[in-house]
Amino acid sequence: MNDQLQHWLRQRRRQSVAADYLLSLDRFERLSAVCEVMFHLNRRVRDRKRSPFTASVYRLKNQFIEHLYRGGYCVAAERHYQQLKCYCGGSMWCEKCDGTGIYRETRLYYFKFDIGDRFYVWHQPAELVTWPVTLTTDTIRELNDQISADLDWPLPFDVNQALQVLNVYLQWYGMGKRLPSLASVLRDVIGDDLRRRSLRLRRWLALHLWPEVHESDIDEIPF
Ligand SMILES: [Zn+2]
Repeated sequence: MNDQLQHWLRQRRRQSVAADYLLSLDRFERLSAVCEVMFHLNRRVRDRKRSPFTASVYRLKNQFIEHLYRGGYCVAAERHYQQLKCYCGGSMWCEKCDGTGIYRETRLYYFKFDIGDRFYVWHQPAELVTWPVTLTTDTIRELNDQISADLDWPLPFDVNQALQVLNVYLQWYGMGKRLPSLASVLRDVIGDDLRRRSLRLRRWLALHLWPEVHESDIDEIPF
């Protein structure tokens, strides 16, 4: 089967598992569960190379932090900065840092959220914080970024499933990222030759993709 179609089906399945999981929890348990998911996803992508997966985590993280902030869960918001030290250690001949010993400074927001019996602390690059924030201190502090070794992964599902738990939760609040319709995926993956054999394909889809695919999706296929 086509990779793109397979990916779509896997994502569809994960979103349906995520929805079942979230619906099995009450409102408060659900928020706690999603915070745990966010915490572990964030730790998982820290210090990893950029990839579509890390990009998705960071995009959803920004939405989730805004959601918590607007929901009134924030108990501390501060400005932090992080200085990336140059390997030269401050040599006046260094071109990378002009001898300052610091080649980049990042400005961040620090947020602390009180979710029932747990506190969660997350940082966001200042340029991503596009909503109004009331700071709880005027002091701008240097980021204290000491985090112990990698955590275990205590969640009852893998990272891809976890990402969809976060995504489906956000979708319920009008954020997140929805899957494209099956029709539009098929439009992309199926060439003219297959389109001519559309009846056979429709029958094949109906037989093989059920129950991942809803009947309405099959009807939607534009040929
Ligand atoms: Zn330098």
